[in-house]
Amino acid sequence: MTTVDTRQTIDYDRLFLGGEWTEPTTEDRIQVHSATTHELVGSVPEGREGDIDAAVAAARAAFDDPSGWAHFTPTQRGEVLERFAKALEARGAETARRVTVQNGMPTWLSQQWEQGFPPMLVRFFVDLVKQTQEEIRPGLLGKQTMVIRKPIGVVGQIVPWNVPQAITFLGMAPALAAGCTVVLKPSPETVLDAFMLAEAAEEAGLPAGVVNIIPGGREVGAYLVSHPGVDKVSFTGSTAAGRKVAAACGELLRPVTLELGGKSAAVILDDADLDSQLEDFFGNTMINNGQVCWTSTRILVPSSRYDEITGTLADLYSGLAVGDPLDPATKVGPLVSERQRERVEGYIAVGKQEARLLVGGGRPHGIDQGWFVEPTVFADVDPKARIAQEEIFGPVLSIIRYEDEQQATQIANDSEYGLGGSVWTADSDRGEAFARTVRSGTFGVNGYANDPVAPFGGVKSSGLGRELGPEGLAAFQEIKTIYLDRPNA
Ligand code: NAD
Repeated sequence: MTTVDTRQTIDYDRLFLGGEWTEPTTEDRIQVHSATTHELVGSVPEGREGDIDAAVAAARAAFDDPSGWAHFTPTQRGEVLERFAKALEARGAETARRVTVQNGMPTWLSQQWEQGFPPMLVRFFVDLVKQTQEEIRPGLLGKQTMVIRKPIGVVGQIVPWNVPQAITFLGMAPALAAGCTVVLKPSPETVLDAFMLAEAAEEAGLPAGVVNIIPGGREVGAYLVSHPGVDKVSFTGSTAAGRKVAAACGELLRPVTLELGGKSAAVILDDADLDSQLEDFFGNTMINNGQVCWTSTRILVPSSRYDEITGTLADLYSGLAVGDPLDPATKVGPLVSERQRERVEGYIAVGKQEARLLVGGGRPHGIDQGWFVEPTVFADVDPKARIAQEEIFGPVLSIIRYEDEQQATQIANDSEYGLGGSVWTADSDRGEAFARTVRSGTFGVNGYANDPVAPFGGVKSSGLGRELGPEGLAAFQEIKTIYLDRPNA
C-alpha cells in the first residue's frame, strides 16, 4: 500500500517590514493550528523586540521622509491605496479561508467580514480624506484662521484573533488614508491572514515602511505600545489588556484608541414580532460563535410574554447547525482555542449554579474534535449574576426578565461595559426612543450592523475613542490651526 501524505502547511520564513521580506532576529516561530481539526496549518516567524525596533524604524523613516507618504496629496495616496484595495480583493477568498481555518469563523461570515470589509474600508477612508483636509474660519479677532489636518505619525496597531482582518482595517484604513505609517502586531492565533495582507501591500507598491507586520504575543505588543518611535496606539482586545495599554500610554502622553470588551443587551419589547426576525436576532447575539465584542449576550424579555419568547429562543438556539466552519451551511463553528473553550466552559459551570439551563450546556454530540461548545442559553438569570455581568466570549446567552421599559433600561445599563445593544419592536419610533436611553457607544433597532459611515466604539470599560466614520479618521490626524494674516472676507 502506498501512503500519500496530503498535509500542506502555509509557512513563511521572513517578516514583512520596510517594504521587504526580512530575516527575523531570532529563530522563534509561531505555529498555527486549525480550530476545527487541531492540525498544524502553518507557521510564521515570531517577532521579538529587535524585529519591532526594525519595523518601527522603517515606519518612522517612511513617515519622516519629507517627500514621502505623509506628504503625498490625498489623491496620490488614493491611487496607491486603490491598488492596495484591488490586491486585497484578489486575495480576499483565500484570506477568508485562512481566517476560518485558524479561528473557526463560519465561512459565510468570513466572506462578508474578512474578505469584504478591508477593501471597502480602504476606499471609504480614501474618499473621506479627499473631502476633509482644510477649513477656513472667519475669526472673531478680525483675521481668518485656517484649520488643517495632518497625519498623526507612526501607528502601533494591536489586534485580536476574533475578526482579525476587518478589525485591522478599522484602524489601518483610516491611518493609511490619513498619511500615517503602521506597525501591525497580529494575535498569534491568526497570523496567516496577516501575511496575505503583507503580500497585498507589496503587490500594490505601498512605499517601503508604510505597512510593517510583526506577529507576536503580549510582551511584544507591550514593547510596541511603549516604543519611543511610535506616535499613536490603536488597540483592540480585552479590557484587562486595554487597561495596561492605557496606563503605558498615559505615562507617555501617547494618544490611544481602545476597543475593548462588551456585555451588551438585546431588549425585546412587548410588541416585538420575533418570529420574523430570528436570523437578525441570531446575528446580533451569537454571530462568530459568540466571539464578537458587540454581541448582545444578555437578552431582556418582558414579563408579559416571558414563557412564549423564551420558548421561541429555545427553538432558535437549539436548532442551529453546528459543525465544520468551512461548510457554508454551518451557523456555529468551534471556538478559537483550547484555552478559550476552557474559559467558556468555566462560565457554563458557573451558569449552571446561578440560573436555569435552557439550551445546550455541553459539547455537541457526534463531533469528536475541534474546540466546540454547544450553543448555550440560560433562563431566569439574575441581572447581577456573574454570567450576566462578565464577558464570556463564546456562544453563551443569558435571558433576563423585566417588568417595564424603565426597568429594561436600568438592567441594560447595569453593566461595567457599554459597547453595543439592540431593541426589538414592531414600532421603529418606539425602538429609537428606547435606544436613546441606554448608555452605550452604539445601539441597533431591530438589528445591528456596524455601518462604516458612523462612529463605532464603547463607553465605560468598553473603550476610549471611536473607529469608523469621520470620527475614526480624526483619530489618526493632528489638528493644526494657522492664524492667517488675512482679513475676514
Ligand atoms: P487580548 O487582550 O488577550 O489580546 C488582544 C491583542 O492584544 C493580542 O494581539 C495580544 O497579543 C495583545 N496584548 C495582550 N496583552 C497586551 C499588552 N499588555 N500590551 C500589548 N498588547 C497586548 O484579547 P483576545 O482574547 O485576543 O480578544 C478578545 C477580547 O477582545 C474580548 O474581550 C473582546 O471583547 C475584545 N474585542 C473588542 C473589540 C472592539 O472593537 N471593542 C473587537 C474585538 C475584540
